[in-house]
Amino acid sequence: MEMQVVQRARENFLAGRSRPLEFRVQQLKSLQRMITDRQGEIATALKQDINRSQYDTPLLELIGLENEISLAVSKLAQWAAPRPVEKSLLTISDQVYIQPEPLGVVLIIGAWNYPWALTLQPLVGAIAAGNAAVVKPSELSEYSASLLKELYPVVCGGVSETQELLRQRFDHIFYTGNSTVGKLVMEAAARHLTPVTLELGGKSPCYIDKDVDLRVACRRITWGKFVNCGQTCIAPDYILCEPSIQNRVVEGIRQTLLEFYGPDPKSSPDYGRIINQRHFNHVMALLDGYTAALGGQSDSSQRYIAPTVVKDVPPHARLMQEEIFGPLLPIVTVSDIDDAIHFISEREKPLAIYVFSSNKKVIKRMLAETTSGGVTVNDVMMHYTLNSLPFGGVGQSGTGRYHGKHTFDQLSHHRACLVKSLGMEEVNMVWYPPQNHQKARR
Ligand code: NAD
Repeated sequence: MEMQVVQRARENFLAGRSRPLEFRVQQLKSLQRMITDRQGEIATALKQDINRSQYDTPLLELIGLENEISLAVSKLAQWAAPRPVEKSLLTISDQVYIQPEPLGVVLIIGAWNYPWALTLQPLVGAIAAGNAAVVKPSELSEYSASLLKELYPVVCGGVSETQELLRQRFDHIFYTGNSTVGKLVMEAAARHLTPVTLELGGKSPCYIDKDVDLRVACRRITWGKFVNCGQTCIAPDYILCEPSIQNRVVEGIRQTLLEFYGPDPKSSPDYGRIINQRHFNHVMALLDGYTAALGGQSDSSQRYIAPTVVKDVPPHARLMQEEIFGPLLPIVTVSDIDDAIHFISEREKPLAIYVFSSNKKVIKRMLAETTSGGVTVNDVMMHYTLNSLPFGGVGQSGTGRYHGKHTFDQLSHHRACLVKSLGMEEVNMVWYPPQNHQKARR
């Protein structure tokens, strides 16, 4: 089954069906129509998958996706055109340009936490770049996956189907998910020398400086951490702050949680659930041995975990060893900005870093002395929303980038083209043998 899908995609590509710009635009527009027409069903599927609020689905997934599609439709001719580059003296009268070309058959493996955006955004770029695509949504967001299968030709399935797919030869693999599977994907790709984009996760730190409007900082952080029940790859994973402001941070988050979800988040229509029992147990186990400063309640029958904050978490605690990917927010205290920078830099390069401060020097130092896939200052996650910015990780948080034109470029081959005329043969004579003094003087 999987083999047939790949074979069909390969045949389509080789027959040149995915190449004409008109075809790409038509595909993109039908994707756009599908999302607009089925918005209600998509929101319902996500409600069933993770109790996502009906209001959040357009806001968090569909608007961004539609923006990506309209951008690609309006800019496609420009993106796909030859890009003239500087010439040398020897090529002054020739044509020298870079021609973006489709790579071939692209495999897209999506994750469950934002199953529409994370599966279809790479697809937008794959289509725009003229590739044939094979799409494999996550089996864990099962309602979304089966709805997507009704609307678009995708390969559904879990580990064994994905592994079967990975045995096939592709021209690019675009994977979103955890880094353990990321390594398996890269290994499988290496067998065919297939390039990969790996959109992975990790622990994204959030530093709160003492010179800051804490009310605003806490509101923004609380939203980014607890939206989608903490299951967001660029959610602030943990807070770093000085001990002197820790209690005020907790208080700011407490007030905000009350504003957002009321006194009982469990009954709030805006608060989500954990994707499945296995992940629920995993997140709860991270909390073992801690007393929550806020929250801490759970109900396994609903896969509910209250928005939870834990204070004074030791740097070597299990909560600080792996990505949480759930609604637990540890606070680790640091003595100052140097300590915070040191803390971040001695760990793996994160997918995102957040810094909240009114002090320009603090911001400047955090930007200059750390690295991460992306960064937002004085807010969380917002760098993701701009399709002019490349989105992706660095080091353990991933490789490659996408969004907007970056996806088009990521899924294109940039062919170096030099088109000469048959004239000016005297110039070439210089390097033809036989070499002798007379020729050199000529
Ligand atoms: P997941 O379980 O949905 O897995 C992702 C994909 O890998 C699925 O399609 C699944 O079928 C496939 N898969 C799972 N096990 C496999 C195996 N053994 N062999 C082959 N394929 C396999 O999602 P997940 O990994 O739980 O997602 C959460 C992780 O993804 C977090 O670490 C998060 O930070 C990261 N993430 C990153 C981004 C990003 O854009 N960088 C976005 C979302 C999630």
